[in-house]
Amino acid sequence: MSPEAKLRSNERRLPQPIVITSHPGTPSTQPQALSWGAATQTGRGPVIATPNATGRNAIGAHSGAYSLYRALAVAAGQLDAGHRPDLTNTAPAEPIGPFPQWSEPGKIVSLDPWGHMPGQGFGAEIAAGADIRPSIAVTKAHINMPEICAAIAAGRLVPDGDVLCANGDARVTKIAIEPVWHLAGVARRFGIVETDMRRALFEHTGGMFPELVTRPDLQLFLPPIGGTTIYLFGDTAKLGRPETKIACRIHDECNGSDVFGSDICTCRPYLAHGIEVCIETAQRGGVGVISYNRKEGRALGEVTKFLVYNARKRQEGGDRAEAYFQRTECVAGVQDMRFQELMPDVLHWLGISRIDRLVSMSNMKHAPIVGSGIEVVERVPIPEDLIPADAQVEMDAKKAAGYFTDQVPGVDELRKAKGRELEA
Ligand SMILES: [Zn+2]
Repeated sequence: MSPEAKLRSNERRLPQPIVITSHPGTPSTQPQALSWGAATQTGRGPVIATPNATGRNAIGAHSGAYSLYRALAVAAGQLDAGHRPDLTNTAPAEPIGPFPQWSEPGKIVSLDPWGHMPGQGFGAEIAAGADIRPSIAVTKAHINMPEICAAIAAGRLVPDGDVLCANGDARVTKIAIEPVWHLAGVARRFGIVETDMRRALFEHTGGMFPELVTRPDLQLFLPPIGGTTIYLFGDTAKLGRPETKIACRIHDECNGSDVFGSDICTCRPYLAHGIEVCIETAQRGGVGVISYNRKEGRALGEVTKFLVYNARKRQEGGDRAEAYFQRTECVAGVQDMRFQELMPDVLHWLGISRIDRLVSMSNMKHAPIVGSGIEVVERVPIPEDLIPADAQVEMDAKKAAGYFTDQVPGVDELRKAKGRELEA
């Protein structure tokens, strides 16, 4: 079909009129009651985030950034705007919770603790036609990484046929979590006024969500950002028990290193090391937790990240630790936008009150975890021999900036150009 013919066939295909939801008070915009932090699922109430759904009580839409693809699919005529998911057999592969943290005031503000089990509390309402969808999915898988196979070959890990198979497969429970922000709770976490935060979110997304400023009666926001994936090693039924030893790596996405093995940073080596520690802990009867957050390039995004790489490698004096953070600040205006204040929410959701082995040297991660009331027993640094040569600049800069280490590099060390040149 020619583009012109396609355009004619699609003309005025979407239903009329447009439903504007930006003002409260009409029957179609009356939100379903919600009591964030209530002790029971039915007492809390359902999160309804599908545009045009009856009782919708959240700004934004399910699936984060992918909601824009869904909108395109509707516009292109590939998806019926009224499509409702058939959730048969999609319930969690392992139960998670409920845990006491789910209703402790202020403990969880950036995800829906009941988000994996709407069918449990609201099955009758869903059967009667209410559009209540999960924001969390829990499944099971085997993962296999060359680093884990190498750890077996080197004798550091021993397959047990349960947590770790002889072929290097590790058994995991994996959990995808979409962010669900309780706006008042998020504002309180950052110590800012809620209306100021709502206004900034409205204005600096190009006015994408007018309801942030016109609908104070809507308490929730499903932001169009990436969420978190959890990989659990060991028996998930042991979560929430004080005697269970927990190993944990909080990992912020780095596509270049995590997936493609780019050697400018320590991300994938540190992730693989974290998984090794998680497997060890699970084999001793504990639970290993990898929390993988979609915050590419310190949440500055990959374009900014690659611009910074160029700026680092082209600067006079070469790529060196003393100028590492400055180059990021020149491009982005800040060094980091990961807002680790929200990161401990997933740990509370998993019922964790103590981490026995935290596989991270970052104080930016350690401080909010401890500040949120979780005890950290031991901090596990990355073994020196796992750091790629080109990543030494990053490692030196982070150690000098207060990374958890007993080997802080001196001024002369930080001045040395250690990174590879752009054309090398
Ligand atoms: Zn990286």
